[in-house]
Amino acid sequence: MGKKHSVLVIDDQETTIWALTRMLNSDYNVYAAKSGVEGILAAERHLPDVILLDILMLDMDGYAVITELKKSEKTMHIPVIFITGLYGDDNEEKALALGAADYITKPFSPDIVKLRLRNQIRMLEQLRTIERLSMHDQLTELPNRRSFEIRLKEEWGRSAREHTPLSALVVDIDNFKIYNDTYGHQQGDAALQAVAGIFPRVLKRTSDFAARWGGEEFIVLLYNTCADGAKDVAEQLRKHAEDMEIPGPDGITKVTVSIGANTREHGNSCSVNEFISAADMALYEAKNKGRNRVCCNVN
Ligand code: GH3
Ligand code: MG
Ligand code: MG
Repeated sequence: MGKKHSVLVIDDQETTIWALTRMLNSDYNVYAAKSGVEGILAAERHLPDVILLDILMLDMDGYAVITELKKSEKTMHIPVIFITGLYGDDNEEKALALGAADYITKPFSPDIVKLRLRNQIRMLEQLRTIERLSMHDQLTELPNRRSFEIRLKEEWGRSAREHTPLSALVVDIDNFKIYNDTYGHQQGDAALQAVAGIFPRVLKRTSDFAARWGGEEFIVLLYNTCADGAKDVAEQLRKHAEDMEIPGPDGITKVTVSIGANTREHGNSCSVNEFISAADMALYEAKNKGRNRVCCNVN
């Protein structure tokens, strides 16, 4: 079993909090908040998987709470199930129109609450699976090109705002066609997985981002990293690849990589496309100079 999912109960009645906590405690991590204001803070702090929300509360009603939750990037995607003493289609309609995932009236049946909660968790898991598949490469489990492009856009803006340098490395396996032809496509896949495994070992900062760019090419984005830093990281990646022993059915195999690096220093006014093409050009230079080396673009 994986990690327990978490549920935040927001209700100003102690007895309801107590009953729901007791009911859900064995299957979920339950957080509780006794007012709307406290609930919003708890949602931001704990980022629960699902929120169970009362409507009638003294300080701030459930409608106001869900409205606030939907405004914030951090909490807008958390499904909210209303559990309320308010009956009537009007109330339910208002809750759903504000983005509620479900609506349960008090007194509630514990089994129905559990099942509706379970349904939300299932949908959530399906969404997460789809998101993971759409953003990751299945063979190497690294982020895919789409994911990289989204990240690049964010980091491009961030580095411009913060006046920090941004570096990109394009990493390409050398003579990989020959490797595939020699050892077979399946072993080629194993080599790709082995090379992908180098990135988490070398990249230490949480802001460093490696993705599979396509075929036997990988791409790395190094936030707030100057040209010397990028060259250093690239050299470490190259060395790790060179030293790596990849087991195959007929014994150990080896690969090398060539790497092209480019850095946008603060004040350099190139476009995103030019930024990546310059790293690509440096890669071609590395290939032309004999492979298994790092070349850096000098702007
Ligand atoms: P260079 O040193 O110039 O990069 O030569 P190369 O042979 O690595 O480059 P080329 O672009 O000619 O060939 C790339 C090879 O990578 C061909 C292709 O079959 C192989 N390849 C691309 N994607 C995959 C994959 O997912 N699995 C396997 N096994 N091979 C792949
Ligand atoms: Mg290649
Ligand atoms: Mg290639």
